[in-house]
Amino acid sequence: MHYLSVFRIIADMKAFNVSAVVAQPSLRAEVSSLPAYVPGSRAEAAAMAALASNESHFEPLPSVLRTVFDAARTMNRYPDTSSLALRERIAGNLAATVDEVTVGPGSLGVLSQIISAFCRPGDEVIFPWRSFEAYPILVQLAGATSIPVPLRRDEGHDLEAMLDSLTERTRVIIVCTPNNPTGVPVSHGELDEFLGRVRSDILVVIDEAYIEYATAADTPDSLALYRRYPNVCLLRTFSKAYGLAGLRIGYALAGGHLSEGLRKAALPFSVSAMAQQAAIASLDAEGEMRTRVQAVVSEREKLLPALRTAGWDIPASQTNFLWLRCSDESRERLVGAFRDAGILVRGYPGDGVRISLADTEANNRVLAVLANAALREDLR
Ligand SMILES: *Cc1c(COP(=O)(O)O)cnc(C)c1O
Repeated sequence: MHYLSVFRIIADMKAFNVSAVVAQPSLRAEVSSLPAYVPGSRAEAAAMAALASNESHFEPLPSVLRTVFDAARTMNRYPDTSSLALRERIAGNLAATVDEVTVGPGSLGVLSQIISAFCRPGDEVIFPWRSFEAYPILVQLAGATSIPVPLRRDEGHDLEAMLDSLTERTRVIIVCTPNNPTGVPVSHGELDEFLGRVRSDILVVIDEAYIEYATAADTPDSLALYRRYPNVCLLRTFSKAYGLAGLRIGYALAGGHLSEGLRKAALPFSVSAMAQQAAIASLDAEGEMRTRVQAVVSEREKLLPALRTAGWDIPASQTNFLWLRCSDESRERLVGAFRDAGILVRGYPGDGVRISLADTEANNRVLAVLANAALREDLR
């Protein structure tokens, strides 16, 4: 056959979309069934008050910025893949050994290492719901099975129902305290009793992304629980109170042999030298971080009663955000009202709206939007 005829045939196949029958590399079903990430408008978002992601609204500390600039000079080299200096520092702060500390690209990165290190396809991961949106995604990517357990009516973890959900296939349980997006914590007593009733071969991950903002007297003494129960792993991050969300760094505290497994499951060199050095510099500036956290906590203690007095039913947040549970109709109205006021908040279909706290000026704008009583009609 003349080669021009071959081109004709290919062109005809394309025209009739015959190429669809040619086998394509196929994605795993766990991947293809995940929703695609839809970016919002950057230009629009840049002009709005960013109260949708629970970030720190404070600019990076000058001492941390200087450290990052210095560390950037070595970016032609791979970073220390074991993050040893930072792990030593964290271990020192927590009276733990270096072996117990695993650093990763955000606590999400560490959680992904945890799930891939412990779960085979079909294994079950129990977590509260609504909670952090990343949990079901990481579980699905690992080929494991999500067992979301609805929160109680008062927005607390339903620990009894979580215990009832245990099966032979349960490998990991995630407790998120204080919980995102509700801001509600689990108390020390509740958590202690729960841990006493979980089989010792199940890993319990306590995600403490917002622990620095928790001020309640019954906040879990998670280090004590970690020492008492060898199957407990603590997950913490530099993304929120420490203000390093964009650098991607977090860590887990787990028994030495468990931690070794987590480190084996890591993508090599995934934590940059800039992130490692920034985390150390942030720990050096612990006092400044505490001052910043205290400012947010004071704002929270001002906003919460003001909004409750205005008639909003808001759970007592122990974090840097507030939660409004509402119907989908109310959610759309609320998110729209905030957008009209130049404020970006986070709506959760089927559940409600989460509003991050920031400086007094931004928080007062939130109060002004919510002063509109018409928004409060038939919330549930
Ligand atoms: C923000 C957040 C994290 C932090 O994720 P990083 O990967 O450390 O940025 C972890 N858990 C919860 C519940 C969060 O809300």
